[in-house]
Amino acid sequence: MAQTNYDVVIIGAGISGLCAAARLVHGGYKVLVLERFRQLGGRFSTVDYKGFKLSTGANDVECNCSLEETFHLVEAEFNVRHPEPDLAYRIDGVDHVLPRQGGLRKLISLGVRNEEEEERVRLAFRRALSWEEPSPTITLRDWVAQYSDSQKLQQIFQGFAALVLAINSYEVKARTFIRFLKAMGGRVVHGYAVDGNITLVNALGAAIERLGGQIQTETEVKRILVSDDGVVQGVSFQQPGREGEVRAKAVLSSVGPRGTIRLAGEANFEKGYLKEVEMNMRPAPVITIYAAADRPLITHPGVIVLTNNTRRVCSIRSQTLTCPELAPPGKHLIESFSALGDSLGPVDFEQEVALSIMDLKEHIPGFDRHAEILQVMYHRGEWPAFHAWPGWTIAPRTPIEMLWNIGDGVNPEGWPGLESSGEGSKRVAEDVMNRIRPST
Ligand SMILES: Cc1cc2nc3c(=O)[nH]c(=O)nc-3n(C[C@H](O)[C@H](O)[C@H](O)COP(=O)(O)OP(=O)(O)OC[C@H]3O[C@@H](n4cnc5c(N)ncnc54)[C@H](O)[C@@H]3O)c2cc1C
Repeated sequence: MAQTNYDVVIIGAGISGLCAAARLVHGGYKVLVLERFRQLGGRFSTVDYKGFKLSTGANDVECNCSLEETFHLVEAEFNVRHPEPDLAYRIDGVDHVLPRQGGLRKLISLGVRNEEEEERVRLAFRRALSWEEPSPTITLRDWVAQYSDSQKLQQIFQGFAALVLAINSYEVKARTFIRFLKAMGGRVVHGYAVDGNITLVNALGAAIERLGGQIQTETEVKRILVSDDGVVQGVSFQQPGREGEVRAKAVLSSVGPRGTIRLAGEANFEKGYLKEVEMNMRPAPVITIYAAADRPLITHPGVIVLTNNTRRVCSIRSQTLTCPELAPPGKHLIESFSALGDSLGPVDFEQEVALSIMDLKEHIPGFDRHAEILQVMYHRGEWPAFHAWPGWTIAPRTPIEMLWNIGDGVNPEGWPGLESSGEGSKRVAEDVMNRIRPST
């Protein structure tokens, strides 16, 4: 590290940390990003396995939102390719491709049994989206059940919720789902990082450094330093063979609110805040399975959402139909995403994986004979789909002056995943810029 005084130190070079850093260096601030691992990206990065480029977390890259905007702001290459056609819902074994506009309407029509029921459900959504949100506690499943007793409709919304919010329709609040629909508004489209997520985060990292920011990998933050009167002072860190400290006017932490409390020390937080974090931080655990085949076992290029006749897997995809760069020549990559039966309770991991593999064998013809399972990834604890269930996040500001959380424990409601990291980090960066001036 060339210096020991910064305007802002950011803990973690995942997509939230990098988006915040990009906004701040663009605003002229002296920024240092510290990352414990050798590579950038956190849960939006790439591991190479037998020549395949597997994601460490997210696969679907949301475009046309604050995430993409951040890349353009700092002139980082956003090398994303869009599958065409994109989203399809599998109902009774048939894949129904959703139109870019009017997707919700189509889903409702696919799930109901007659026109009267369709009209009732459609009006309920229209009312919820325009002026009367569902009550804060009702789950999506119970809310939908007020307007229709169609099991198929419930299965469609179960697949939808598990895909985008990583928890089940009987766990997510209907209000959160409605806010998600509003935030996305048919505007956000998704794509795949052409050469793996690592190329996107490396491009953003390079742009940050071009603008004068510093990124230090293999540097684990050990403590967030706080003065006796509750103001952040900087951080202490450990690198291979060396320890050190840096001072900063502001610190942004992307390690999740629980991790932030550990780093800053519980004694520095009010009891009320500790309780709020305890109550709200419900990590969303998921299982992803990567498999390889020497033939295209899936022919639809976009995401296929499984609705009925599935036990755990809520979506399958083969990104290599759109980005063959992700596999060795002639090989195909398949990925599945499963929400757990109970996102809060004790988990029988082997059972969850066994159920997911049964789903894959039933939904992907030839999987049994032609697919080789490359990796089963269980994302939980400090590496979940989200640090907090969508709808359960807390505010980014902390009781410690000039210490913010960023990332999916504090992102704005209705914005899950990468787009929320883009949007949440943008809002926090603006808050920081309103509070401190860049040093000259
Ligand atoms: C399986 C899975 C599938 C997903 N699918 C999608 C999807 O398709 N679309 C979507 O939009 N979202 C998806 N998500 C969610 C998305 O990946 C995350 O919301 C997002 O990547 C979180 O980024 P982040 O920067 O907030 O956190 P992270 O990526 O976790 O970044 C935090 C960083 O901090 C570092 N760190 C931790 N402690 C320290 C320390 N003490 N010192 C220094 N560094 C530290 C970590 O190494 C990490 O790099 C998925 C997530 C998972 C797990």
